[in-house]
Amino acid sequence: MNIDFSSLAAKYGTPLYVYDFDYIKNRYLELKEAFSGQKNIINYAIKANSNLSVISLLAEQGAGADCVSIGEVKRAILSGVSKYKIIFSGVGKSDDEIKEALNLDILLINLESEDEMKRVESVAKELGKIARISIRVNPNIDAKTHPYISTGLHDDKFGVEIDMAKRMYIYAKKSSFLNPVGIHFHIGSQLTELEPISEACSIVADLAHTLKALEIDIKFFDVGGGLGVVYDDELTINIQEYADMIKNATKKLDVTILCEPGRYMVANGGYFLTKVLYEKKNNKKRFIIVDGAMNDLIRPSLYDAYHKIEAIGKNGENSIADVVGPICESGDFFGKNVSLPQLEHNDLLIVKSAGAYGFSMSSNYNTRGRAAEVAVQDGIDRIIRKREVFEDMIALEKEFLV
Ligand SMILES: *Cc1c(COP(=O)(O)O)cnc(C)c1O
Repeated sequence: MNIDFSSLAAKYGTPLYVYDFDYIKNRYLELKEAFSGQKNIINYAIKANSNLSVISLLAEQGAGADCVSIGEVKRAILSGVSKYKIIFSGVGKSDDEIKEALNLDILLINLESEDEMKRVESVAKELGKIARISIRVNPNIDAKTHPYISTGLHDDKFGVEIDMAKRMYIYAKKSSFLNPVGIHFHIGSQLTELEPISEACSIVADLAHTLKALEIDIKFFDVGGGLGVVYDDELTINIQEYADMIKNATKKLDVTILCEPGRYMVANGGYFLTKVLYEKKNNKKRFIIVDGAMNDLIRPSLYDAYHKIEAIGKNGENSIADVVGPICESGDFFGKNVSLPQLEHNDLLIVKSAGAYGFSMSSNYNTRGRAAEVAVQDGIDRIIRKREVFEDMIALEKEFLV
């Protein structure tokens, strides 16, 4: 990776997201390679980074998509993902979303409750269609991650217990409008240990064997996403061990593996560029105030997430500072107690590992336009989303002004 961040900042302005497309493509190819020898689809979890050009980059390589709203399903299709590689997950799909998903004829709808199954059944009946479904099993495994991104415990809102799942499969098999083809689990995000995933995997594989015995033909075994990445100095899961564990757990099942990585694909391919506005000291505490803010990258504020922050082209003695944005919230920060050299107006800082849950979680809070996004591929940079301007932000309100 050799990206000239200063010239990108000069060319496109700040705050700015920069994505290394070569990195993202390689991540996909590496994961794909790890699963070789078994039928599989890598369903990129679009919510991690929903930019159409990012999705299209992965679609070109053959990736599928994991979507959690009909909007994401449409993004995937627009970006060239084959509809037979699209999964629609999420605990709260509306009737309209279910209807559209059935009309679009995607690979499958992933169910998260019995109520939802009945909704999907009646919508399918109305449309005269048979809905291909999978069921998200909640294996009650502690994923050992941040509670906000843990999803595999009975205390979390996701999925259904094993016994309930079994009842749902039996019901679905009898229904004329449901075709249960998949089984799914996803126990959390930023997982750095293989053990919880492998426990969940064997619990769900056992259930799949039981279902096969009941002549419920599970064709897709979906292991979810959640693969952790290095933000600081974490030890992460070895991708080959991960894939081998899954191949091993499913070897008697004759299934296609579906894997739904989001963060893993894009986090470390993304950089958030922001310029220094001011330095200030409150008593002895040093603050660096930058032009980016929590509306651009909310992970530090939301999860107390750590991101490495570096100053570009500066040396000199470092001292500790908080890097904060202009928003009127004390939670508006990118880093606390960061070691940085003395900085001046317009110096450039890079917030690293910003490719996942960065732009996709951004907002217009404080009427701040969203940042522009730039791709770098084969040494060439190009804009993939324009900077939002004031007119964009008021477009849906203006006509109602009296
Ligand atoms: C969010 C999500 C993912 C992706 O999670 P990552 O931690 O980014 O890999 C995959 N599957 C489902 C169902 C999700 O909700």
